[in-house]
Amino acid sequence: MKSNKRWTIARAGRHKRSMGLTAILLAAMLNPLPVLAGQIGAVEIGDSDITLRFDGLVAGASAFLLAGPDRIALDIAGAQPGRSPAGGGIVRAVRQGRQDGETARVVLDLAQPALVSSARFAADGRSLSLRLRPVSADEFQRAARAPRVELQPPAQFRAKPPEKRYSVSVPIGTAKPALPLPRIQGPANDRLPLVVIDAGHGGHDPGAISPHSGRREKDITLALARAIRDDLLASGRVRVALTRSDDRYLVLEERYGIARRLKADLFISVHADAAENQDASGASIYTLSEVASDREAARLAARENKANIINGVDLGAHSGDVSSILLDLAQRETMNVASDFARLLQREAADNVKFRTSAHRFASFVVLKAPDTPSVLFETGFISNKDDAEFLASADGQKKVARGVRDAVQIHFARRIAALGN
Ligand code: ZN
Repeated sequence: MKSNKRWTIARAGRHKRSMGLTAILLAAMLNPLPVLAGQIGAVEIGDSDITLRFDGLVAGASAFLLAGPDRIALDIAGAQPGRSPAGGGIVRAVRQGRQDGETARVVLDLAQPALVSSARFAADGRSLSLRLRPVSADEFQRAARAPRVELQPPAQFRAKPPEKRYSVSVPIGTAKPALPLPRIQGPANDRLPLVVIDAGHGGHDPGAISPHSGRREKDITLALARAIRDDLLASGRVRVALTRSDDRYLVLEERYGIARRLKADLFISVHADAAENQDASGASIYTLSEVASDREAARLAARENKANIINGVDLGAHSGDVSSILLDLAQRETMNVASDFARLLQREAADNVKFRTSAHRFASFVVLKAPDTPSVLFETGFISNKDDAEFLASADGQKKVARGVRDAVQIHFARRIAALGN
């Protein structure tokens, strides 16, 4: 590597924390606004009142609701997160994080469904008071579909809005060039839906290994991905791309990154599970959620997310705490579509593939994080189970899995097109 440090202009946000002093000074010269924003000094929780106090001026606040589990999310522009108090009353817990370099996000986990019935900044702009009103679950669900509500402090006590477009950052090493995109197969018709199939693991990440045969998850997932591709192409209804068509390593962000760059309409990540209990068997379909549906789902997500860690080094773009992934508003519609598809896939594949549970499950899988591509993770069975492993390694088993995916994909897009046509 010729130079290990390089000045670049990059999007604000995740590099901000790594800024050195020189970078801060340079940023200050480029941007005359105060670099250090107001901090959230305190969050006070009453029975149905919440007050956020700021150490400095902030630029504004916006609030929106997230359902299932029910939360109120507040983005404070021009603020840094501070300490969170314990919950109380309607608020079960308070969490804070950085939404981007200049915006703090405060999440109020609710003990019962509640709306923000009033919100206002103090006359000096140094605090924001909210009043919460308990509502029915139905009313909360309805309100959660509304766009976010924006609020500003009085003009004379308002920080200028953060300059979002550019910041100075120091990348570690040189940026990796974007991967060449895989070939899109199928009819040369841009209007046909595009499905990206992701064969889990690969290269120096073998995934789970069968204790019976030594079979590796990465080989099984690739064979399954190819079988699914072939069946989908034979239907003539969709176009298909594989994130990998050979034995190579991709970090999780590259996998969904491919789907995003190709503007895929659906992303299916194919895996095969392993458990210490060799009797554990059956397939499961997972979608993204901040909160796991059960402990096994949480453990599985933790394990699959480790695919980014090779020799103790996290190669993912967003290293750090994946358990605290905060999902944005824009992701909700995508997640609904993914859940619909997960249910459909389970229904359509059930004749040919044995499932572990009757419902689809969810957890915070990094590979499902594309905000705009409906994504599911298909754990096709347990390679730690003798029967499952043989089924998944056989041409017949692979065809059966592929048939289930093909049928579900066809119905999914037929429904989507019908819905859009109305
Ligand atoms: Zn896996």
